[in-house]
Amino acid sequence: MKAPARDAIPVVKAREIIAKLEIEDPAEIEIELIAANEGAPVLEKPLEGSDGRMVRLDGSVLITVRNTIRFPGQKRFVIAHELGHVLLHPHVRQIDEVSIAQASNWSLNQEPEEIEANLFAAEILMPGKLFVPRIENKDPSFGLLRSLAGEFRTTLTATAIQFLRYTKEECVLICSKGGFRKWFWPTERFGFRLRDETEIHAYTCAAELQKSKEGHVRGDDVPAGCWLRDFSPDGKECVTEDAIHSIDFGETLSLVWIQEAI
Ligand SMILES: [Zn+2]
Repeated sequence: MKAPARDAIPVVKAREIIAKLEIEDPAEIEIELIAANEGAPVLEKPLEGSDGRMVRLDGSVLITVRNTIRFPGQKRFVIAHELGHVLLHPHVRQIDEVSIAQASNWSLNQEPEEIEANLFAAEILMPGKLFVPRIENKDPSFGLLRSLAGEFRTTLTATAIQFLRYTKEECVLICSKGGFRKWFWPTERFGFRLRDETEIHAYTCAAELQKSKEGHVRGDDVPAGCWLRDFSPDGKECVTEDAIHSIDFGETLSLVWIQEAI
């Protein structure tokens, strides 16, 4: 199981901008100003049917973002996603509309341009050179991810993806909804395959959260077979799972980590 290889171009593009602007601190990443500097002014206004929009017309481009988006992290991610299309897809995207739910979708079974725009957004809001020193030698946990999402002013899902892209740990992020797996994103080192069944196993923290709808469950002894193929749910091998429930989307995010060799 491998992370996609198409991530090189969006990441390089985002890094070029961060280097050009000599950004050295997360507080300096003002995405509206960065977009304007790249020729794409940002307008906040009421929008119906989407949370963000990018329109290219007669050589000029405008990004619009819904003014009532509640969380700054979501607003910043929507702007960064549209800026990604502006810079990466000049010939294939003249118009793009994005919703917050869609910008939180990291499924690999979608148009590659959407994944690229999301990767660009994650890298420009959380540049590797600032992000990596903050995760070095740190264990995967939503406690850490929440604190990073706060410092970089971005969404928890995007922060989790960025963590997976840079951590040396062997883990996978799994998004589930209504008792079924929706999408997953492994680290490059992750050497296992997920179960063929997409139904969430009853012994997982995700299943517990789906029932209780409470914020956060962590377990160090989740049977590996509940998530991974080639293991039994009744076997002795265990993985660590940290899971949170998002009230906004009704989704559960599970960070599944191979803490001990199995
Ligand atoms: Zn898009």
